[in-house]
Amino acid sequence: MAEHEHKVNIPAREAGSYKIVIGTEILPSLWGRIEADFGRYNKFVVTDENLVRAGHLEKLAGGREVAAFVISPSGETSKNINTVVSIIETMEKAYLGRDTLVVALGGGTVGDIAGFAASVFKRGVPVVHVPTTTVAQADSAVGGKTGVDSSISKNAFGAFWHPAAVYIDPAVLATLDERQYRAGLVESVKHAMIADSDYFDFLEQNIEVILGRRTSVLERMAQFNCKIKGGVVERDPNERNLRRILNYGHTIGHAVEAISGYNILHGEAVAIGIIAAGLIEIEIGLSEAGRLDRIRRILEKIGVPVKLPTDFDEINLIDLIKRDKKAVNKWPKFVLISRIGQVYCRDGQWAVDVERPVVEKVLYKLQRILT
Ligand code: NAD
Repeated sequence: MAEHEHKVNIPAREAGSYKIVIGTEILPSLWGRIEADFGRYNKFVVTDENLVRAGHLEKLAGGREVAAFVISPSGETSKNINTVVSIIETMEKAYLGRDTLVVALGGGTVGDIAGFAASVFKRGVPVVHVPTTTVAQADSAVGGKTGVDSSISKNAFGAFWHPAAVYIDPAVLATLDERQYRAGLVESVKHAMIADSDYFDFLEQNIEVILGRRTSVLERMAQFNCKIKGGVVERDPNERNLRRILNYGHTIGHAVEAISGYNILHGEAVAIGIIAAGLIEIEIGLSEAGRLDRIRRILEKIGVPVKLPTDFDEINLIDLIKRDKKAVNKWPKFVLISRIGQVYCRDGQWAVDVERPVVEKVLYKLQRILT
């Protein structure tokens, strides 16, 4: 299978742009490529215990001794400032300096932690991402958002720190847990909905082989995702306006995720948020007949929830929606679509006002699957 290369241009960055390389089975030869691309840097890998267990660190290292920090336990519980301190102190003990390249091998949590550590180590060293989950390959590895959680909120510490390169190998997804795999596909559905109706058709037509993890189809998906996300990030790297469209389904999704105590995975919560956005679109006259059914069908095939659990308290949910980090006067704006592939824009703004009674009505319906 041929490799594909995309470029993301970030004008404010010193280097101006970074490349995204997509290719099946590039992992075993990747170290040589990183050496070729970043020869003058010492390399330091950040990964997690599951990637080691699945043999991916060994594949990347290809028999070499590589300096690495292995995050344990994996996942959100380690995404905190203590892990960043441990990573930085490990780099210091290894006498690493500003000529260090951080190589993040893992999902979104590894990428966010390693990227943030790179952004603050000796006032900033470059990071390259080797994403290993459906979330990271579709979304988090491209875009430059890094950060860790405080004990109070997600991503409380953070920085925009654009990668120096991204290397995507869909073959690594073979070892990912089924629920994680499926939940991460929701970010791809979101990309299609906000930017490309042909991509939505592609997902509908290929959903069975996508669920079967056929790498040729996953490569095509990675190309669509990088083009869409990279395109948005280029135009608005620091989220002044346009980049907000990537938050489609996330305003209510984040509240659902938090109220579940993170038992509902991010992508699963975004699926519920996407249905909520669809119901809002119907309420305010933005939706054509049958659109929401089409969206619901693909999410159901993926196997993610499309309604709110009945034991969720609407008042708590509204309270969390009010706390959205982009809220103004304690009420957030919402990203909506005017059709599949096109975000609704009002007065030059991509996130728009929706009155609270409309949202309350939608939450009521969302618990009962009423359209
Ligand atoms: P994750 O990184 O926690 O990975 C999920 C689990 O899968 C972990 O236990 C991990 O060890 C394991 N795993 C990862 N790759 C594997 C593989 N190939 N084989 C076997 N096991 C594997 O989860 P995620 O969904 O990738 O990331 C979630 C995080 O990403 C959240 O913290 C979220 O806030 C963040 N995120 C960031 C951005 C961004 O733009 N920076 C965007 C979306 C999400």
